[in-house]
Amino acid sequence: MPDYCEICGRRTEKFIILPIKQPNGDLDTLSCAECATKSSAYCSIHQAIHLGYPDGTTACPACIEEIVASEGAVIGSRVLRNADLADEYWQQLLEWARDVQEITRETGIRVVSRAITSYALRFNLSTDQVIKMVAVDGPRIILPPIII
Ligand SMILES: [Zn+2]
Ligand SMILES: [Zn+2]
Repeated sequence: MPDYCEICGRRTEKFIILPIKQPNGDLDTLSCAECATKSSAYCSIHQAIHLGYPDGTTACPACIEEIVASEGAVIGSRVLRNADLADEYWQQLLEWARDVQEITRETGIRVVSRAITSYALRFNLSTDQVIKMVAVDGPRIILPPIII
């Protein structure tokens, strides 16, 4: 356990663990409070540390849930009713949503809208852009690789 901030190098006793990959392969970065609030893995609106994803991207869980709560129904139905979505992709999405639903007991629309929203925030895209990407490349791009 180091006694210095891995971003600024200053000594600190209170560490915040950021989901930021390091050149040495570590998946997390131990940061002082000051560097944490300035980092890309910090949400200033919710004063919260982002969730980290295996590819190194991050997103604020509170921001995701806010969008899902306010626009989830619209986003989810836009995906599932997208006429450009091939049958095969539609099936993949539905199968994945069913697996998640068994755990979370949420509607499929909500589960799908959270996947779209998380991806949008991680890559700084609009949810409409992500919906188009899913129609072109298939839903695997937005779904956690372990489940599918
Ligand atoms: Zn620091
Ligand atoms: Zn946030």
